[in-house]
Amino acid sequence: MEIFPGRVSNLEDCLLLETTSKHEAAPMSMGMQKTQYDMALEQFQRAADIMKLDPNVQEILRKPRRILSVNFPVKMDDGRILLYQGFRSQHNNALGPYKGGIRFHPNVTIDEVKALSMWMTWKCAVAGIPFGGAKGGVTVNPKGLSRAELEKLSRSFFSLISEIVGPFRDIPAPDVYTDSQTMAWFMDEYSKNDRNNPFAVVTGKPLIIGGSLGRDSATGRGVSVTVEEAARHLKMDLKKTTCAIQGFGNVGSYAHMFLEEAGVKVVAVSDSKGGALKKNGIWFNEVAAHKKKTGNVLSLPGSEPITNEELLELDVDILVPAALEDVITDENAGKIRAKLVAEGANGPTAPEADDILFKKGVTLIPDILANSGGVSTSYLEWVQNLQHLYWSAEEVDQRLKTIMKKAFAEVWKTSQENNVNMRTGAYIYAIGKVTEAMKIRGWV
Ligand code: GLU
Repeated sequence: MEIFPGRVSNLEDCLLLETTSKHEAAPMSMGMQKTQYDMALEQFQRAADIMKLDPNVQEILRKPRRILSVNFPVKMDDGRILLYQGFRSQHNNALGPYKGGIRFHPNVTIDEVKALSMWMTWKCAVAGIPFGGAKGGVTVNPKGLSRAELEKLSRSFFSLISEIVGPFRDIPAPDVYTDSQTMAWFMDEYSKNDRNNPFAVVTGKPLIIGGSLGRDSATGRGVSVTVEEAARHLKMDLKKTTCAIQGFGNVGSYAHMFLEEAGVKVVAVSDSKGGALKKNGIWFNEVAAHKKKTGNVLSLPGSEPITNEELLELDVDILVPAALEDVITDENAGKIRAKLVAEGANGPTAPEADDILFKKGVTLIPDILANSGGVSTSYLEWVQNLQHLYWSAEEVDQRLKTIMKKAFAEVWKTSQENNVNMRTGAYIYAIGKVTEAMKIRGWV
């Protein structure tokens, strides 16, 4: 069998790792780059220290409860057999079944998935939905696969993780480079063993097989709701504001659409190829049509080209990083001119950058609040699947708004009371809820 370069793993096939070690990962040596997981732990520790959190609770929450690591072959269209690696990390299920997306990306690592699963625990707690946190990923560039190869890869991965997922155990959803079609394959694969048409095993499905109206646009919708709430508290008139959005994928594009509806003038957009700036405003429809035609947002008629880095430092009121992680660091945080940052992506800001922004008086709506509209609508989809009763787009939208407004109010209040930034406020609020559930269940 041919081993696909960069996908070689020393881990045993389908190894089920229970996290039993009492020790943290070895300390980082000089010059080693921080991982997403280091970042997640640092964010957690800041809140845990302020809360004077019970050390036993800390020990439990610092690590995922279970990580499944799988290596699996996929037969390519040309007959070659390539070996891929994937993970599912289940961080905590004190508040309900594990919940979180699955991403297909060449940079997926076990550390990244661990961090993302921890963020899901806090995200669900902040949103007040009855789920714990999980995340999965396959180390693959899906853009290099044919549709048939992608389907085989999706089905193989899901069949391997099927032993730990289920409608009341762990419910996956789309994430970076996975979508409703991927979820349809997942659900169908799962149905081969569970013969009950288990719609509720994944969310973010196509409408025809139990998806929810409003799920596709939900994360972007949620970003816009949190920006509107923040603007109300900060007494910002959104109709007089400008905004730059990094990433024109599922989150960034819908955030653009809803922010525009709220009266915000979007002046810059970007995708992985680069960005476009138009000082007198970019309409959602115009960039969506251009992207559809050309495959990217570059050379949008009438725009100036800008890089993704330049976009972050533009003189705008609102900045929405909605692409990948780790884009706002201690190196560029000082140059950010926006007064309000809403994290559409997961983990775009490093902890040192958080401090710099807070000192500058920038209000940052953290990922676990700003992008929680996606998982909140996943919850609404799951509820509809379980009751076999489907809501109109208006009903879904109304419920989502209620969830997001409450989450925003709780986080705002907690950060004001503790005189901390909104990220630490969100952590204090979320950790408090998870801890209460663990205690009442008798885990500690
Ligand atoms: N992948 C999304 C997130 O990071 C949605 C997860 C879900 O719906 O379960 O929040």
